[in-house]
Amino acid sequence: MRPFDYRRADDARSAVAALDERPDAMYLGGGTNLVDLMRLGVASPELLVDVTRISSSAIEESRDGGLLIGAGVRNSDLTSDPLVRLRHPMLVQAVLAGASGQIRNMATVGGNLLQRTRCSYFQDVSKPCNKRLPGSGCPAREGDHRNLAIMGYSGSCVATHPSDMAVALAALGAIVHVEGRRGPRTVPMPGLHRLPGDEPDRDTVLEPGDLITAVEVPALSFATRSHYRKVRDRASFAFAVVSVAVALDVADGVVRDCRIALGGVAHVPWRAELAEEALRGSPATATEFTRAAEEELAQARPLRDNGFKVPLARNVLVRTLIDLAEAS
Ligand SMILES: Cc1cc2nc3c(=O)[nH]c(=O)nc-3n(C[C@H](O)[C@H](O)[C@H](O)COP(=O)(O)OP(=O)(O)OC[C@H]3O[C@@H](n4cnc5c(N)ncnc54)[C@H](O)[C@@H]3O)c2cc1C
Ligand code: SF4
Repeated sequence: MRPFDYRRADDARSAVAALDERPDAMYLGGGTNLVDLMRLGVASPELLVDVTRISSSAIEESRDGGLLIGAGVRNSDLTSDPLVRLRHPMLVQAVLAGASGQIRNMATVGGNLLQRTRCSYFQDVSKPCNKRLPGSGCPAREGDHRNLAIMGYSGSCVATHPSDMAVALAALGAIVHVEGRRGPRTVPMPGLHRLPGDEPDRDTVLEPGDLITAVEVPALSFATRSHYRKVRDRASFAFAVVSVAVALDVADGVVRDCRIALGGVAHVPWRAELAEEALRGSPATATEFTRAAEEELAQARPLRDNGFKVPLARNVLVRTLIDLAEAS
């Protein structure tokens, strides 16, 4: 690992100013992804600006009944917060499905959203990779892509977004609060992460030096009936092959409303708007759930070795919808 400087930021403005001064700098959350990438030689910032102690490690109720979660909140503190547990079970389940207890104790909300893809070529500096080195090529397209995207990918990159938390936040329509060089602004999810197009090195719409200060989860009464289900290759320490985050509102056997997002299928947490639209007003039956899932997944264009993700995603989504409907 190359030598680097370290500075602890006192507040959001000084953190942004530090990156303004030193374009070779990066923010440090829990370091559970960034430090790994530095060890591998994928990232080589000359200054780390530690943002874990700035005034953003609280979970508060916002004025409209939503929750404002500080970017410095540790993943484990998020999962033990009574309000989050009561109002957004799928968010808690998503975070608990990721990494290990020790890593969740270190990892922050801001860092979790901005963790980088687990595509093995991206992490191996001896291989070409358009995301790591623009224009160098994408060996995954013809190589090992079993775990990579089936939707929204481009000729430049077929990587998937790795965060479980982001899938639940995308389903919940969370709003990301950002402090930038020109002051504060908000970015709605989904919309924070971007499809690869011909710039796969840009994971998000954030600009250089943008600091995530908080994530706002809007009030959503039926999110108390929500669930995150993740399929992975082994019981622990594994990223999603496919995952679903679903909140379902059923009354008198009819779907009044729903929120659905898929993980492990695209470069972004994939909000399943076609399935949501198909379900609103439909009978809450397995037939309708299957029809809606198939409508969403008709957009899938699997690669040579990951076609299995299409029926897998359909079945996991349908099963989760059935379970939530039966519990209503
Ligand atoms: C063995 C292992 C297994 C894992 N399994 C899973 C899994 O199954 N599911 C899953 O979702 N995750 C998994 N993870 C990833 C883990 O969740 C992430 O490493 C972690 O959430 C990143 O958070 P962090 O605070 O440590 O971020 P860091 O590593 O500190 O930072 C990550 C990135 O975010 C930037 N950053 C940090 N904070 C901010 C901020 N406030 N504003 C702007 N930029 C910021 C950093 O500059 C860096 O680019 C796993 C990790 C490991 C090591
Ligand atoms: S899929 Fe993306 S991250 Fe993986 S090798 Fe191709 S360009 Fe790199």
